Amino acid sequence: SFGHVKQAPEDPILGVTVEYNKDPSPMKVNLGVGAYRTEEGKPLVLNVVRKAEEQLLADRSRNKEYLPITGIAQFNKLSAELILGSDSPAIAQKRVVTAQCLSGTGSLRVGGEFIAHHYSGPKIIYVPAPTWGNHLKIFPLAGLETRTYRYYNPKTRGLDYQGMIEDLRAAPNGAVVLLHACAHNPTGVDPTKDEWEGIRNVVRNEKQQLPFFDSAYQGFASGSLDTDAWAVRRFVNDGGETFIAQSYAKNMGLYGERVGALSIVATDPAVAARVESQVKLVIRPMYSNPPTYGAAIVANILSNRALFEEWKVELKAMADRIISMRHQLFDALTARRTPGNWTHILNQIGMFTFTGLNKQQVEYMTRDYHIYMTLDGRISMAGLSSRTVPQLADAIHSAVIK
Ligand code: PMP
Repeated sequence: SFGHVKQAPEDPILGVTVEYNKDPSPMKVNLGVGAYRTEEGKPLVLNVVRKAEEQLLADRSRNKEYLPITGIAQFNKLSAELILGSDSPAIAQKRVVTAQCLSGTGSLRVGGEFIAHHYSGPKIIYVPAPTWGNHLKIFPLAGLETRTYRYYNPKTRGLDYQGMIEDLRAAPNGAVVLLHACAHNPTGVDPTKDEWEGIRNVVRNEKQQLPFFDSAYQGFASGSLDTDAWAVRRFVNDGGETFIAQSYAKNMGLYGERVGALSIVATDPAVAARVESQVKLVIRPMYSNPPTYGAAIVANILSNRALFEEWKVELKAMADRIISMRHQLFDALTARRTPGNWTHILNQIGMFTFTGLNKQQVEYMTRDYHIYMTLDGRISMAGLSSRTVPQLADAIHSAVIK
């Protein structure tokens, strides 16, 4: 019987939209969702995606057959090249196994389960504190003990580099370390290049740990695909084993199509081939094989020079609009002489600003200003527009002086 089943709480992120949808106020603003919105507040389908879709529809030879367990081979090859670089030695040496998975979430889950089944080291994964909330749910269910390392310093609103290094040093040799490839969610705080080198030194040289990169925002942070892949490439190019979960949700706006990839970089091609055979055994009983449509769109764009160039322009435009929102919000708070230092709004990277506002302040802003955001004070800059910046600045101002 199921009569004893308790009502589960709403997801802390997706629940914000549930509350937003219930609010009848015409002035309501949803800064909770991690999805891009246009200046008009509308979801965006990239032009290049429309073009790729038209080509797919026009091709009458396409069918609806099952894909292989690891998805579209061309999609996998191009995805590995996108994150590792087309000149990647690891790819040339056939040390990289890539499986098309269900967006970033599915890639993390398959990677986590593979590690739980096959890793020779400790089945413990360290994630940053704080991190995207789903990490804390995905990895335990995948069979990995999940612990945190210090990452964010609320005082400086920056990276707690010393704390992070200490915690990685104190973690067991060989532990798995989850790293956000760029645009850390929710803090918007990324290590500098020097700090990345320090982290790499501990993970690789001192502790022989296993880096697992979560790349959900390639191209979205800086506007450049290569810049945002810098840290991943540094780790892979040192020759060590690396896991990477890629998502096309944000950078191609394919959220609901669930397109992503898990890449595992092994130390030699023979290991890579055996690893691939076992990854299939993780996927087959989970969902058999991935869906065709979204990955076909991505493969179309990545394989066609003209479409690829067009994508980069549209991607940069999204990144630039977000950066411009940072400046507008900062200027609006400065104009209001809102108490406090707000430079972190300019310095943080990617879709989110970790405002530093507390739960009471967030609740007040939702109640009195109809602004919806997660209780940790994270706002989606992608949900903001020139029209809503003054409303948000007014709300922050009165929340702070209250
Ligand atoms: N990792 C991080 C850090 C994210 O922010 C997200 C999206 N919010 C994901 C992974 C995965 O998203 P998806 O499954 O939609 O690709």
